[in-house]
Amino acid sequence: MVAPPGFEPRSGGPEPPMLDHYTTGLCVAPKSASVFFIFSVRRQTRRFFYKKTQLSHHDLEMPLWSELTHGNFKEIACKTEVVVMVTGALEAHGKHLPLGTDTILPESLGTQIAKRTNALVLPAIPFGESWSFDQYDGTISIQSDVLTGYYESVMTAIFKHGFHYIVALNGHGGNDPILRQAARKATQEGERTVVIVNWWRDLAKSVRELVEETPGGHAAEDETSEAMHVRPDLVDMTVAEAHRIETKFTIVSGAYRKDLLPSAVYGDPRKASGEKGKAIMEQAEKELLELINQLEQGQLPVEKTRFQP
Ligand SMILES: [Zn+2]
Repeated sequence: MVAPPGFEPRSGGPEPPMLDHYTTGLCVAPKSASVFFIFSVRRQTRRFFYKKTQLSHHDLEMPLWSELTHGNFKEIACKTEVVVMVTGALEAHGKHLPLGTDTILPESLGTQIAKRTNALVLPAIPFGESWSFDQYDGTISIQSDVLTGYYESVMTAIFKHGFHYIVALNGHGGNDPILRQAARKATQEGERTVVIVNWWRDLAKSVRELVEETPGGHAAEDETSEAMHVRPDLVDMTVAEAHRIETKFTIVSGAYRKDLLPSAVYGDPRKASGEKGKAIMEQAEKELLELINQLEQGQLPVEKTRFQP
């Protein structure tokens, strides 16, 4: 293990190779640090010297990775452990929603996060794995092996800068297994963790149950409501159609993709409203802030169940 400058390595067994803000040279610990922190753990030390994220405080109006320079990157990056990687898709979403819906929604959440925390938010990756929809005009689907390598490269590059946590804020179901695969590869070494947030099903569950009249699906009531809240100018409810093709088994067929997902809709978007979308998005934002705050404290978002003996 390579210790941060001025620090004693932890005693005990062999440790995995470590890349963090110190070993990458991104952040420099003050020279007197060893006097106070001989027994300390790296992260606690870093928290002491570089003020951590407080939900009530942030240093930049919007810490978007793409808006920093290589000159001020260090100063901003040393204040956080968390990078938000937004992944979306460019695919058909009925006649009433834009092709970029799966990118626009998580990107909007990411922008809110950037305003309220020190977590660094990356530009959204606009393409995803959209095989099921690529018979529809305007869809661009990336091959899963290409996308796995792409996600892994982005994750590895983030970790090389010394961050410990990536929140993969995902807006598209087809990306989920690919993100998992990429994350497994990118977190093999060191203290690296990827938390995949499939936001439409992991966040704001209680509010969804409260406001939705019809179950969610694709380009359905929930997604349409969210789009009406975030980009009402891009939603045309006059052409919204409801479809729901049910199958007992999982049918995979290149030839019948459009028949299985008519107009790329699964559900009833006609019940959507901007108010419902607002309620869902605001709760989702709140839960995301909680997650990022937890990660900044070095805690994984796990719930332990204690079984009775
Ligand atoms: Zn979608």
